[in-house]
Amino acid sequence: MSNPIVIIPMQAAQMAAFLDENRHVNSSHVRFEKGAPVLYYRQEEGYEVKTLTRALAIFMLLAGIAVWTVPGLSRADEQSPDSAAQFIALNIGKADCMLLLWEDQAFLIDAGYEQTYAALKTMLSQYGVAHLNGVFLTHCHKDHYGGLLSLAQSGLPIDAWYAAEIYYDVKPGQHPAAVAAASRGTPVTWLKAGDVVSAGSTGSFTVLGPTSVNDANENNNSLVLRFSCPQGSILLTGDMKEDEEYDLLRANAFSPTDVLKVGHHGDNKATTLNMLRAVQPKAALILTSTQEEIDTPARSTLSRLSATGCAIYVSQEAHDAWQVTLRNGVPEVTDVYWHDVPLRAENISLKIDLKDDLLTIRNDGANPLQLKDCILYSSRGDDMLTLPDASVPAGGTFTVGSRSTKGSSDYQWSGKKIWHQKKYDMAILYDAFGRPLARTDNGMPE
Ligand SMILES: [Zn+2]
Repeated sequence: MSNPIVIIPMQAAQMAAFLDENRHVNSSHVRFEKGAPVLYYRQEEGYEVKTLTRALAIFMLLAGIAVWTVPGLSRADEQSPDSAAQFIALNIGKADCMLLLWEDQAFLIDAGYEQTYAALKTMLSQYGVAHLNGVFLTHCHKDHYGGLLSLAQSGLPIDAWYAAEIYYDVKPGQHPAAVAAASRGTPVTWLKAGDVVSAGSTGSFTVLGPTSVNDANENNNSLVLRFSCPQGSILLTGDMKEDEEYDLLRANAFSPTDVLKVGHHGDNKATTLNMLRAVQPKAALILTSTQEEIDTPARSTLSRLSATGCAIYVSQEAHDAWQVTLRNGVPEVTDVYWHDVPLRAENISLKIDLKDDLLTIRNDGANPLQLKDCILYSSRGDDMLTLPDASVPAGGTFTVGSRSTKGSSDYQWSGKKIWHQKKYDMAILYDAFGRPLARTDNGMPE
């Protein structure tokens, strides 16, 4: 099911020799980083892992080079890759989208923003997922359900759609999981605390919460799931905050769990010490971007997590995603670089000129920024603009105007006005793979 990536830095001459000896790997797997070639190789379907690892081992021995691999492959000779559970959390800003692979099963937990759907799609293809056994929506906020409809419309076979039967502030007929499932004529399976969803023959998701409706904050109606299999356990919390944590503590719902997906993007009003004492995670994943929400991950949350002695991984620090390989209760966490995905652009900034309704993209990085399929997002109107096939050279700029822009611009948004003149409006630029590159706002108070 999982197709691990091997990442090997080597000298140019070694690379040439390696490619010559290993015909299954070709030059499309080679990228240059800081002038040195790096091999990104994905174990293709039907390819024998043993042959690959042996070839690599012999080569490494001969060349004496440093090699590191995504966990799972280095021990592929001893164990089948299916024997570990894999959990992947995308770097898509302050939003949740995760994939869980166990036995021959694949489950998606939340779908990120609509504008980060490309990342979801890429993740599924990177891991060879051609069929989802289930899609869970934790709660009705668009940083979790945004990609659901596109996923439903993609035609990918999906066996079941799951959501909490408790939710709040959703107009009749507009529950995002129900809308997505209905678009392909499927019902939603509504879950309540105590329900169990099986994952293969030996794994399962147990629903811990919500236990009561919270009509002040939908975050506290998050579907809280504990995945468990013979290799370990993962606690999935959605955007649960103190109130729901308190409910679940009172219900004695928490138990020691190997991996914690931290609640509400690492916000300080979540992940209480009492909860951590009950869960005792070994690794904690926080899915957020400080660029998007300056208070996350909160320093207090980080120190509470550190105090429990667990390792902390924040999605914004991963290149494309964090991959957790869970074996014998031990989580190994790796920074994932996707095959065939360009490296993330660095040093990109945005500026809004409100008076002229003009946004400037500035590239202070070392390489040109390719804009094709990048998405420019405006939070106020929840608007998105897909950028044209253009390139912003290193040190260069690219401007996006509207019909209100008086001067010239490199590209025009079709609307009359893009940026709100009086109320807070945030701009985020996402690359073609859904990773946020830069953000700014219009200078109005939040
Ligand atoms: Zn959220």
